[in-house]
Amino acid sequence: MAKIKKVEFKLNTFEYIKPFHIANNITYQTENIEVIVELENGIQGFGEASPSFRVNGERVEALMALKKVVQEMIVGMDVREYRKIFERTDSLRSASSMKAAVQYAVLDAFSEEIGVPVYQLLGGAKREVETDYTISIGSIEERVEEAKRIVDWGYRVIKIKVGENLEEDIQAMIAIHEVSKGCKYIVDANTGYTPKEAVKFVKEIYRLGIDISIFEQPVPMTDIEGLKYVRWNSPFPVAADESARTKYDVMRLLKEEAVDYINIKLMKSGISDALAIVEIVKTANLGLMIGCMGESSLGVNQSVHFALGTGVFDFHDLDTPLMLKEPKFRGKYKVEGPVYKV
Ligand SMILES: [Mg+2]
Repeated sequence: MAKIKKVEFKLNTFEYIKPFHIANNITYQTENIEVIVELENGIQGFGEASPSFRVNGERVEALMALKKVVQEMIVGMDVREYRKIFERTDSLRSASSMKAAVQYAVLDAFSEEIGVPVYQLLGGAKREVETDYTISIGSIEERVEEAKRIVDWGYRVIKIKVGENLEEDIQAMIAIHEVSKGCKYIVDANTGYTPKEAVKFVKEIYRLGIDISIFEQPVPMTDIEGLKYVRWNSPFPVAADESARTKYDVMRLLKEEAVDYINIKLMKSGISDALAIVEIVKTANLGLMIGCMGESSLGVNQSVHFALGTGVFDFHDLDTPLMLKEPKFRGKYKVEGPVYKV
């Protein structure tokens, strides 16, 4: 028996090394909640919630207030029967990042209890993955300087944030491409374009001879028709991120044939829905990438083990810990340039 004795929450604030600017949003710091699940034998499991108001409608204060609810939900349950705990914590519907942190802390405690790392509990498909690195919105000169640095550091997949100014975004793409030839690009508009602007953008980039591996969330999160319009008029694969939070969102996107890719984030789905989304998307023969919100190394550790365990992702956008000032690295993985490995 490996019963849960208590659950603790701890609020941790991390500053970004430099402000992170995406379409219509600038972030200076992130407030994350560390979740500690302690078993009767003293073993502890750790998870991290990085709440997002923009995407999930979550507030830190509201999540902190859930401690008693979570305790009542899972204290006394056995981490060896974690599916039962997932069933119960699925009811944290309006607190998906908390659901992720609690579910992962349970897996982590189970992992420590039996001496098997979480990525192996989840399938052990891979030993290493490669992350991209993100260029946030800025002047064209700033974006080019950042691209040069990223290439120098050895990253081969560059994520480019767009969606505030169509003409400037096209100019930035040209200038970034000049200094990063051979790299792959994930371009993320974070809901910033209209469907017609998005199609104009991709057609122009295609005409210029630049290849985009994934064009992420071009249009507003509830505009499924718009996503579909962009998908069928884009020479490049189109991904849903903000539009794809739960497994039910993903079912609908697939029925509507609205996207080529789903960007899974544990903070939107928790571990339970993320596992379901993996199977739905694989069954439909579409593509998967994995991303993150403002997680520190403790939180991205969750996505690294999820990605290694399932082995299903074409792209790994897990770079936030590289952008935060963290007093101590807390991942149960190693970082070697762009490679995360166990
Ligand atoms: Mg995104």
